[in-house]
Amino acid sequence: MKIKADYVNTPQWKELTVKSRLPEQLKCLDEIAHNMWWAWNYEARNLFKSLDANIYEEAVLNPVVLLERLSYERKEAIVKDKAIMKKVKEVYADFRAYMDEKPDSKRPSVAYFSMEYGLSQVLKIYSGGLGMLAGDYLKEASDSNVNLCAVGFLYRYGYFTQSLSIDGQQIAKYDAQNFNSLPIERQLDENGNPLIVDVPYTNYLVHAYVWRVNVGRISLYLLDTDNDMNSEFDKPITHSLYGGDWENRLKQEILLGIGGILTLKKLGIKKDIYHCNEGHAALCNLQRLCDYVDSGLTFNQSIELVRSSSLYTVHTPVPAGHDYFEESLFGKYMGGYPAKLGISWDEFIGMGRQNPDDHGERFCMSTFACNTCQEVNGVSKLHGWVSQKMFAPLWNGYFPEENHVGYVTNGVHFPTWTATEWRKIYDKYFDPNFMNDQSNEEIWHGIYNVSDDEIWKTRMALKQKLVDYIREKFTESWLRNQGDPARVVSLLQRINPNALMIGFCRRFATYKRAHLLFTDLDRLSKLVNDPEHPVLFFFSGKAHPADGAGQGLIKRIYEISQRPEFLGKIIFLEDYDMQLARRLVSGVDIWMNTPTRPLEASGTSGEKAEMNGVVNLSVLDGWWVEGYRKGAGWALPQKRTYENQAYQDQLDAATIYSLFENDIIPLYYNHNKKGYSEDWIKVVKNSIATIAPHYTMKRQLDDYYEKFYIRQSIRAKKLAENNNSLAKEIAQWKETVAERWDSINVVTKDTSLLENGGETGVKYSVKYVIDEQGLNDAIGLELVTLKNDKSNDDHQIYAIHQFKIVGHEGNNYTFEAQVEPDQAGAFRSCVRMYPKNVNLPHRQDFCYVKWLD
Ligand SMILES: *Cc1c(COP(=O)(O)O)cnc(C)c1O
Repeated sequence: MKIKADYVNTPQWKELTVKSRLPEQLKCLDEIAHNMWWAWNYEARNLFKSLDANIYEEAVLNPVVLLERLSYERKEAIVKDKAIMKKVKEVYADFRAYMDEKPDSKRPSVAYFSMEYGLSQVLKIYSGGLGMLAGDYLKEASDSNVNLCAVGFLYRYGYFTQSLSIDGQQIAKYDAQNFNSLPIERQLDENGNPLIVDVPYTNYLVHAYVWRVNVGRISLYLLDTDNDMNSEFDKPITHSLYGGDWENRLKQEILLGIGGILTLKKLGIKKDIYHCNEGHAALCNLQRLCDYVDSGLTFNQSIELVRSSSLYTVHTPVPAGHDYFEESLFGKYMGGYPAKLGISWDEFIGMGRQNPDDHGERFCMSTFACNTCQEVNGVSKLHGWVSQKMFAPLWNGYFPEENHVGYVTNGVHFPTWTATEWRKIYDKYFDPNFMNDQSNEEIWHGIYNVSDDEIWKTRMALKQKLVDYIREKFTESWLRNQGDPARVVSLLQRINPNALMIGFCRRFATYKRAHLLFTDLDRLSKLVNDPEHPVLFFFSGKAHPADGAGQGLIKRIYEISQRPEFLGKIIFLEDYDMQLARRLVSGVDIWMNTPTRPLEASGTSGEKAEMNGVVNLSVLDGWWVEGYRKGAGWALPQKRTYENQAYQDQLDAATIYSLFENDIIPLYYNHNKKGYSEDWIKVVKNSIATIAPHYTMKRQLDDYYEKFYIRQSIRAKKLAENNNSLAKEIAQWKETVAERWDSINVVTKDTSLLENGGETGVKYSVKYVIDEQGLNDAIGLELVTLKNDKSNDDHQIYAIHQFKIVGHEGNNYTFEAQVEPDQAGAFRSCVRMYPKNVNLPHRQDFCYVKWLD
C-alpha cells in the first residue's frame, strides 16, 4: 500500500468560553459592562480606565474584554484599593438608580427596525450616518425613558476597517467579531436555552439566534444566522453590512422585517407603533399583515390596521438609492405570500410598484413601505420636500406639496457626542434641569455667562487632545505603511495644535465633494503655508468597497497630502469610526461640509460639532439650511448658479477659498494680548447658544412623538376597538367607493366662471350636481387654481376652494363653491373630486381622484 504524504481529518472545534471570575465586590462591573450605558457615561468609562489603563487601551475601550483580561493579582489589588472601590460603588449606584426608574407608560410604545446601529466602536454593526442615527435614537429613548424596543443584526464581520496602501489605495479588512467578548447577551427562552427564531424562506426555514444589547433601559434584539443549523447558503445572511449581492440583500430584508416581527412575537412583545428606519425594514409590515389575516380578518381590513400603526422614515434623497428587486428574484422568495394574504401575485408585487400594472417594473422596497405605512417622513425640512417630490408619482392626483410626506430633522445624542470638558461647563453654568429640557434655547444662552478665557482654554485642551490622540493612534501604522520613516516623523512633528484646524470627515461618497478644496492647489498651498497664520485640514472617511470613484478621491487626497508643501497641513486619518469621530468633532475649530445640494438628506456630524463649540462651514443643505444663523458659522450660498456641475464646483471652491482668506482666517487670528481671538469666541458662543439646542436627539425623539407616534397610536387604537370595528368599517367603505367610483357622475353643472373667466371683487358661484351612486355623502369637491405664468411642469397652487353641499335629492348631491377672485392675472383651474371620510388620516390613504370637466 502506498502511504500518503499526509492523512488528517478536519478538527471539529468546539466553541467554549472561559469566563474570568470576578470577586464578589466587582461583579457589578460585569453588569455595567454588559449595558451600553457606559458608552454615554464618562464616569463609568473613567472607572473602567482606572482598573487598568493599558489593558483598557489594548481592548479598544471594550469593558467586557478589559474585565476578562484583568489578572488575578490586579483584581485582588482593586478590591483592596479604597479609592477605586468607592468609585465602583458610586458608579453602580448611579447605574441602578437610572435602571430602576419605571418606563413612562403615558407615551405610545414603539418597535424600531434598522439594518444598522452605531452605539459604540466596540460593536461593529454600523457603517455611517444611518446607523449613528439609530444608535443615538435608542440611547435617547433610554434617557427619555419611553417604551421602545429595537431589532437589527449582529454581523459577524460588520463593516470593514480601513487602511491605506503606500500609494493611497483603500484596503478594506473584514475582521470577524468574537460575540462572547462583546457587550451583548444571548437571549434565552423561558427554559433557559438560547432563543431561536425560525424564519420561512421559500420552502425551508432559516434559524436565527437572538442577542440582546442593553442600551440603558432599552432592549435591542440582534439576529444572527451564522450558526450550524443553517446551510452554507444562509449562514452569510448576517455576515456583513451592505455586502453581498441583491439576493443576499433580499434575504437580509426578509430576516429584518419578517424575522424581526417573529422575534418580537416569540418574546411576547407587542407595540403601538412600528417604525421602519429606511425601507430595508419594510417587510415587517408583510408579516404583520399575515398575522392579521391569520386571525380571521380580510386583507383590506388587515392593511387598515397595519398602516395606521406604522411609520416609514426615508433617508435617501434620490430614487436610485432605493432597493429594487427583479420580479424573478423577488418571486423566488416571496411567491408564497399572496396565498397567505388572499390576494393575487400581481396585487402583491404591485404594492412595490409605482405603477402596479406595469409588469416590467421591479419591486421597490420604499414603494412598498409607502403603501403599507400611514405616515412617511424625511430627515430634514429640505429633505422632507425632496421626498414629497420623489414619492409624488405614487399619489398622482395630488401635487407634491400636497402629499402627506412630512419631516423630522435628525439630531444627535447629547451625552454621547459632547466632550466631557464641555459637559462639565454645561453642568456648571446651565439650569440643573437642562438634561430634561434640552431644546430650551434660553438655557443654552447660559453659555454667554462663561468667560472667554474658559471657553478658549476648553477649546485648546480639546485641540491638544486630538493631536495627542492622532500621534498615539497613527504613529505606528504610518511608520509601517507609509514608507519613509523620516517623512512620517516630520509629518507628526508638524501637526500644530495652535493652527486653525478644519475637519472634513464623512463617508467618501462622491456627492459630498471632498475634492472641492483641491480645485486650485496653488491657492490652497498659500492658504496653509502662511507662517503667521497656520491652517491644517483633517480628512477622514471610508468609501464603499464597490465605489471606485469614492476610493479614487481618497487616493487623490492622500497623494496631495504627501507632497512636501502639504505635509502635516493636509492629513488623511484612516478608519473613521465613532471614537475618531468623537475626537474630531470636538477637536477641530471648523467642521466643513460641501455636498451637492440637495443630496445630503440631513447629515449629523455637523450637529455633533455644535455641541462642542466647533463651528460649521457648509453648503446650505440638509440640517444646515435650518441650522445656520448669521454670526454663528458660515454658509455657502443656496442658489445654484450653474447647471454644469464642474462649473458649479469651481465656483463653490472659489467661494470657500475666499471665505477662508477674507473672513475666517483673519477672524481666527485676530488675537488679543492673551493669544486668542475674542471675535472667534463670540462665534463659538453664538453657535452653542442658538444652534445646538435645536439639534439634540431629545428634540428629534420628541418630534417623532408629537408629529407621528401619538397621533398614529390614537387612531390605531380607535381602529382596533370593539373587535376592529372601525377598521372593518373603513375597509368596507373603501371597497364600496372603489367599486362605484367610475360610475359616479356629474348630472348638471354651472361653471361659467371656469369657462369665461371673471373679474376681481365679484362673487361667483360654481355648482355641480353629482350622482353619488347610492353612496351617502362620500364625495368631496374642490376647485384647484394654479398660477399660469409657470411652465407646464412647473406650477404654483394659487388657491383651493372647497365646495359645500347645499342640498341633495336622493342620490344627487348639489355642491357649490363661492369664489371671489382677489387677483387679476392668468390662472388655470380644475375641479377635483375625491372620496371624503373623516376617519381617513389624509387623502393619500385612499388616493382615488377624478378631475371633473
Ligand atoms: C456622525 C457620524 C457619521 C455621519 O456623519 P454625516 O455628517 O451625517 O455624514 C458617520 N460616521 C461616523 C463614525 C459618525 O460618527
